[in-house]
Amino acid sequence: MDTLFCQSCGMPLEKEEVIATHKDGSKNNDYCIYCYKDGAFTQETTMDEMIKSSLEHMKELFKDDPDFDQQAALDNMKYFFPKLKRWVNAPLDLNTK
Ligand SMILES: [Zn+2]
Repeated sequence: MDTLFCQSCGMPLEKEEVIATHKDGSKNNDYCIYCYKDGAFTQETTMDEMIKSSLEHMKELFKDDPDFDQQAALDNMKYFFPKLKRWVNAPLDLNTK
């Protein structure tokens, strides 16, 4: 089975417990539980904000890794996020620096 990615924040859905749920409690394989729970998004946000918070999260994760390239990570997300289901129809308004 291919690894699924959350179609909102891009995180890999490798474990059963991080997969989102529909209103009836069944699994929604499109999203993670941090973005989507019980049939609704946990927070209203924009793609721009989502990229910013993901970058903050990555900076924290890789703070001891001298090879971590913040600009490369950002460029990668700017490429990747507009392809996700949640953002595919979102306006492109990327001012993230
Ligand atoms: Zn997510």
